[in-house]
Amino acid sequence: MPVRSLALHAGYQCAHSGACCRTPWDVPVEARAHQVMAAGLASGQVRPATDPFRRGPDLPAGVVAILRRGADGACTFLDADRLCAVHRGLGASALPATCRIFPRIALTDGRGTSITLSHYCPTAARLLLRTDLPLAIMDAPPAFPPADYEGLDATEAWPPTLRPGVLMGLDGHAAWEHHAVAVLAQAPSAVSALATLRRSVAQLMSWQPGGASLVEAIAACAVTDELPSASPAFTTPQPPARAWAQARYVAALATVPDALRDVSDDLPGDEGWRLAGEGWPRVDHGARAYVAAHAFANWTAYQGDGLRVWLASVAAPLGVLAVTAARHCHLANRPLDDDLFVEAIRQADLLLRHRASREALVAGWTAGSDAPNETGPV
Ligand code: SF4
Repeated sequence: MPVRSLALHAGYQCAHSGACCRTPWDVPVEARAHQVMAAGLASGQVRPATDPFRRGPDLPAGVVAILRRGADGACTFLDADRLCAVHRGLGASALPATCRIFPRIALTDGRGTSITLSHYCPTAARLLLRTDLPLAIMDAPPAFPPADYEGLDATEAWPPTLRPGVLMGLDGHAAWEHHAVAVLAQAPSAVSALATLRRSVAQLMSWQPGGASLVEAIAACAVTDELPSASPAFTTPQPPARAWAQARYVAALATVPDALRDVSDDLPGDEGWRLAGEGWPRVDHGARAYVAAHAFANWTAYQGDGLRVWLASVAAPLGVLAVTAARHCHLANRPLDDDLFVEAIRQADLLLRHRASREALVAGWTAGSDAPNETGPV
């Protein structure tokens, strides 16, 4: 099965930050992994500090336990040197699927497997700031050899739709994905890229079968727009408008189950927004890469119904990122810089990729207002 990823992600390698293993989320242990890990514990090949498995009557099908965590929230298999005792003692193949696959997020369809990353992983988040690699899709990325990456299996699904009732076909979907990444690569800012994509979607809504192919129609969409000199958002990169960003953040937050709510989810104040705006121009290329990482291998293309829903699914990450950036600037009391940006990216993906209900997100994007003729986000 061919594999594709963004070139930025193609060299991803776990740097053992330990961030994912210290996050107090539930890691399910499947029967196969449980058997191997239990054998490793019995033989002494693996030595956790405490009983590592939490069992219960309410586990999902196929799951025999949840990894227990210490008082600090860390998995009991995590060594003091931030290495995993299971990985070290038994190899990566012994790990539960969640551990083996994180931070990879895969979409498999008739074209092969497309892999993007969860940037809650700080190593993945920092890749978005690389300027020595093109923002482009590449085949056979070295970091992701052919394998079963699980994720969304759309091999039996209909291709994504352009609008309700009109299929794009896999070639149309692939052309759109390339167009979106090209727009994000070449636009002068993340905000202008989103505006260009919004115009592309509006242009394609009138496409009808029987004339030019959809691939040709996508090729006719502008990759960059003429710069309206009156708009500073197009000439000097700026974060998206505060009200626009907060609306997307609040909508995403509303889908988070109560058990995963956090007091730190409050909206940032004026000073946070001022500091984020001050530093945004130097990290805007990272924001474009972040949106591209949501545009590529995008599950909503299959789970939603049409490019308008897809558009809302790539607008949301930019809005959420602007809010988390303002919050981190406020907490650190300094303008947005690379380190704050990485933390903001991590929190944005923690919300969108891990805490939010995926079903509710797609439902909200379907009912939402990111219609292609909307003026925002500038
Ligand atoms: S089993 Fe290993 S990789 Fe998985 S959460 Fe625990 S320490 Fe991390």
